[in-house]
Amino acid sequence: MKFGGTSMAGTERIRRVANIVRAQAARGDQVAVVVSAMAGETDRLVNFCREANPLYDPAEYDVVVASGEQVTSGLLALTLQALGCKSRSWLGWQLPIHTIEAHAKARVESIDAEALIASMEAGEIAVIPGFQGLSEDNRVTTLGRGGSDTSAVAVAAAIKADRCDIYTDVDGVYTTDPRIVAKAKKQKAVTYEEMLELASVGAKVLQTRSVGLAMKEKVRVQVLSSFIGEGAPPADELPGTMIVSDEEMDELVEKGLMERQLVTGIAHDKNEAKVILTRVPDRPGAVANIFEPLAAASINVDMIIQNVGRDKGETDVTFTVPQSDLARAQALLEDRRGEIGFNRIITDSKIAKISVVGVGMKSHAGVASSMFRALSDRGINIQAISTSEIKISVMIDEDETELAVRVLHTAYGLDAAD
Ligand code: ASP
Ligand code: MG
Repeated sequence: MKFGGTSMAGTERIRRVANIVRAQAARGDQVAVVVSAMAGETDRLVNFCREANPLYDPAEYDVVVASGEQVTSGLLALTLQALGCKSRSWLGWQLPIHTIEAHAKARVESIDAEALIASMEAGEIAVIPGFQGLSEDNRVTTLGRGGSDTSAVAVAAAIKADRCDIYTDVDGVYTTDPRIVAKAKKQKAVTYEEMLELASVGAKVLQTRSVGLAMKEKVRVQVLSSFIGEGAPPADELPGTMIVSDEEMDELVEKGLMERQLVTGIAHDKNEAKVILTRVPDRPGAVANIFEPLAAASINVDMIIQNVGRDKGETDVTFTVPQSDLARAQALLEDRRGEIGFNRIITDSKIAKISVVGVGMKSHAGVASSMFRALSDRGINIQAISTSEIKISVMIDEDETELAVRVLHTAYGLDAAD
């Protein structure tokens, strides 16, 4: 069971969480719980680091930010004990959860779960702080923002859990953001692949990396709400959204439990910025010169368009980077102006990326064209397009985000009946 920051925000909410955990254990299950820091706490800790030293050492940053989860894991164990359950916490370094050394963005390598399993078998509820691990040189690491989801999946894999229930402040994965489209529907199930695409294009339910890990380790993941009333169905009845393999999805469709649909979800992301380099020489090596320095600075480039060369052997290159990296990207490119040989850099952070995702589009033609038509019918201009086997993304003006999401939700027949 994993509980996010909103569910852990304060002793009152931790008591609710403890009750949910106790009820699960009372069904005869051995339970490990992974927790986030209280909502807002990690941001607060990050700010302390910035104030202390703007060029902070990531190893010390990890020491500071990992503390939020240490507090909530101890508090949950205490609260469970107050409810009469046997429980103890296991900090990342105590298990340990071995990670690579990349501070602030470490990856889990392995988890020593023997002692943990023995304690669970002896009837103790294990509480594990998410987000944190231990590097080979014996220092505390953290897994990147939102990393507790990944901790939960990694622990579930290590103890071969029957299921990894991710309790959060929404009751599942929706066809789109319900704050934008009131008729958005909760999905009973989505496939790993779809969830991976949805997470990476802005649906903020799960950390992208946790989905990749779940897919690789075949961990059964359920997303469900921790804000549930007395008579709510237990997690074992799968009230949330299950993340399943393609095969399991086929079975659900055959049994009539899921409808076969072309598009599973529509996501939006306002956190990217557009960069245009004009009059780049149209010759081999030109784009490599642009993207190598960005890659070396760990700046993730997403959509890329290189126009057909115009006369004089020149072309424009357009791409997107995370807004938070825009200033750095711009400075890096300016520094290499001579080498790359462009004329101007034009940037725009008032853009949004809208993506439609669905495994159904693997075997269907026309999904992209109906997207383009639906947007053009509302006068929404498409500035760039990128696709994968199960996803189409377009870049549009940020002001048109909500309209685009609504129009597409209707166009693909996803609106819930009244
Ligand atoms: N507390 C960490 C964060 O806010 C990790 C998590 O909650 O998933 O990013
Ligand atoms: Mg989260």
